[in-house]
Amino acid sequence: MKRKKCTKCGKTLRVDKFYKIKKTGYLKSSCKKCSNAANKVWRLNNPEKVKATQRAYQKAHPEKFVYKPENYLKNKEEIKQRQAKYYASKGK
Ligand SMILES: [Zn+2]
Repeated sequence: MKRKKCTKCGKTLRVDKFYKIKKTGYLKSSCKKCSNAANKVWRLNNPEKVKATQRAYQKAHPEKFVYKPENYLKNKEEIKQRQAKYYASKGK
């Protein structure tokens, strides 16, 4: 496996430790660990942008955010049954 040097931490890591940029197919210059850390910091520093991105995503995929009471009820029923089973098995 090829190796690549991370520009952030300076470590030489296997290429599977780097994220790929979907658009170009190139690997990012910083490793996954550094990218994740940078992302976290960025999100903390840009809560408004995070919200805007979420809103945009919600707008682009409204079907994922549709509130369906029947789904909620179904889930609730399932959770109830699961809990009942769990307690029943625990009691023995
Ligand atoms: Zn790194």
